Order: sequence, then C-alpha cells, then structure tokens
Amino acid sequence: CGIVGYTGNNDTVGVLMGGLKRLEYRGYDSAGIAVITDSGALDTRKKAGKLAVLSDDLNAHPLTAGNTGIGHTRWATHGGPTDVNAHPHLADDGRLALIHNGIIENFAPLKAELLEAGYTFESETDTEIVAVELGRAYREVGNLRDAFRAVVGRLEGTFTLLAVHSDEPGVVVAARHNSPLVVGLGDGENFLGSDVAAFVEHTHRAVAIGEDNIAVITPESVVVTDFAGNHVELEEFEIAWDA
Ligand code: GLU
Repeated sequence: CGIVGYTGNNDTVGVLMGGLKRLEYRGYDSAGIAVITDSGALDTRKKAGKLAVLSDDLNAHPLTAGNTGIGHTRWATHGGPTDVNAHPHLADDGRLALIHNGIIENFAPLKAELLEAGYTFESETDTEIVAVELGRAYREVGNLRDAFRAVVGRLEGTFTLLAVHSDEPGVVVAARHNSPLVVGLGDGENFLGSDVAAFVEHTHRAVAIGEDNIAVITPESVVVTDFAGNHVELEEFEIAWDA
C-alpha cells in the first residue's frame, strides 16, 4: 500500500520509518522494513498492526545500521494480515528482499509452476511468488536490474515493486505497472516512494517514473529504462508543498 526506498549515508531505518509514517494516511494493516547492514547482511523486521508495533520492536531490538533499505505498509489482498504475510518477502536464501503494492492476478499458475520446480513458500501472499521468481532469475543473471527484466513480463495485474539484494549494497531496484512510483533526488542519497510523501521531508526534487519502467538507484545515480532495457530520460520536477 505504502512504499519507501532509500540509499545513502543517513540513518536508513529512520528514513524508512519516517517515510512509512507519512504514508500512513493511505491506510494499512501491517508494516515491515529490510536493510542491507554495514556488515553486508540483509536484515528484515515485519509486524502485523500499526507502525507503532514495528517501531516498538525496533526500539527493543534495533537492526544493525545500514545504508540501503526498503519499507512497506501493507493493505492485505491475498493472505490475512499476519506477521508472516507482511512485506518484505525474502528469496535467494534470505539475500533478496521484495515489497509490493498491488495485486498479481496470475499468481496461482506462477505459484503452481514454482512448487513443481521445488520452491517453497512461507506466506499466503501473491507477492512472495514475485520474490521467488526474482530470486530464481537472480541466480541466472547475477544482478537485480536484469532479474527484474526477466520477471516483470510474466506478471499480470498491478504492481509497484522494490527489491534489494545483499550482494548489491547501495542499490535499490524498482519496477511499476498500473501503480505509481516516484524517485526523490538527494545529495549523495536517493529515495523511492509510492508517492512523494515518502521522502518530502528530505528532498523536494523528484522524478515521476513512467508506466512499465524500471528504476535503479544508488547514492550517486538514478537510471531508468523501459521493460525492454531502453534508456528513459529523467524528467525532474519540484515538489510544491512544504515538508
Ligand atoms: N497483494 C499484496 C498483499 O496482499 C500487496 C497488497 C498491498 O498493496 O499492500 O500482500
């Protein structure tokens, strides 16, 4: 339902939780974050309930600091509002984390195919199918951007997807289809959001990502392509409202 992504030298958990707080107005039933820690591990925390449940848990047991991460507030469509069904969903032996807004309409045949191939699932969500597909593609192509290109064409429905992989610290990759996605441009840091509220506290420079595009952000760069891999020019705009 609400999506935020971050890479840079600021307090990553703080940026993600602040972004989710500003997206609360959209409504949600669960929340979660994943961070690539400074030691290179992928650390995830997710909870059913209000953001306060997640932030209390993070206060009691803080995540190791990191410079790259993703955060999600979920409005359940497939699978009830439980800790396990909350996003992020993991794949590739816990090295890849994925969050999703929307609905994967053809998740049932995709899931049947993956079960047949021996993959297992933790949750009842449509989203986890995409995580597992991305993990499978990652093993073949070796990077998130190409893994997204291999997978997005197979998905029907609506999605904004954000993923991180512990083998690619400093990288967040996003794709959208029938669902919004915005990049926030910072100085030595960059942001992703389902809307500008996710990062307006940190920057007023933004780029709207077009339909069927993939965005790759690092602290120093934003590169956008279409699903076929063709380069797309960035069209920067200024966010008009006050943080
Ligand atoms: N369909 C996904 C789920 O139920 C994502 C829902 C959302 O947009 O929050 O987990």
